[in-house]
This record gives sequence, structure tokens and C-alpha cells, in this order.
Amino acid sequence: MQKKSETLAPEPEEIELKTAKQTLIVRWSDDHESFYTLRYLRGFCPCAECQGHEIGDWNFIESPTSIGIDSMEPVGNYALSIKFNDSHSTGIYSWEILRELCPCGGCRELYGDKHAMTKYPTH
Ligand SMILES: [Zn+2]
Ligand SMILES: [Zn+2]
Repeated sequence: MQKKSETLAPEPEEIELKTAKQTLIVRWSDDHESFYTLRYLRGFCPCAECQGHEIGDWNFIESPTSIGIDSMEPVGNYALSIKFNDSHSTGIYSWEILRELCPCGGCRELYGDKHAMTKYPTH
């Protein structure tokens, strides 16, 4: 059985890595735009090693200040696999997780105190 919510969920139309700014920009099919710093993305890597088994309770992993992305690869048509320059490559960012991680004001409001930003060290 196909879930309707899956076909309606927003998907990235464009993923752009701004190496100089250590930022990943995602432009979504519903015209939403997300800006992630690489420290933030790496910090909330969704793999079991980084997040344990508690889904929905974000755990921040501090990264070296010079965090970068060595390579990115799509996984099927549902996720992005990111290999960071600290040789961590087990993070599979599904579109759903990526969207949930969007640090913009609107998304933070949507998820409230469950949003990853609440666990993000500002210094
Ligand atoms: Zn990880
Ligand atoms: Zn957002």
C-alpha cells in the first residue's frame, strides 16, 4: 500500500554546496529554502552511531572547525548520503530528516522544542 503523505512530501529540487561558506543549501519542491552550516549538519548526523536509537531527541556531535564535505551521493530517490572530511560517512539524510533539520524560523516554530536547533550550541 502506498502512503499518500509520501508522495506529497517535499523533495529537494536543488542541493548546492557552498564550500567557502561551509554551507549546504537545499531548494525544495514546495519552494522552501534551507541553509545548513556543515557544523550543524555534521552535528546532527542521523546515523545510529551519532544519534543512538532515540529518534526525535537530537544529539549534537561537535566537529572540527574546518568541517567539510568530501562527497555527497543520492541514495535511491529518498535520501542523501554525505561523507564528511572527518571520514564520517554513515549519515544518510532522508528528505524527511533533512527537512525536519531545516534551521529556519518557520521550521523551528513547527517543531518547537523538538527541533534540533534547541540542541545546537551557539558558540
Ligand atoms: Zn553519524
Ligand atoms: Zn525551513
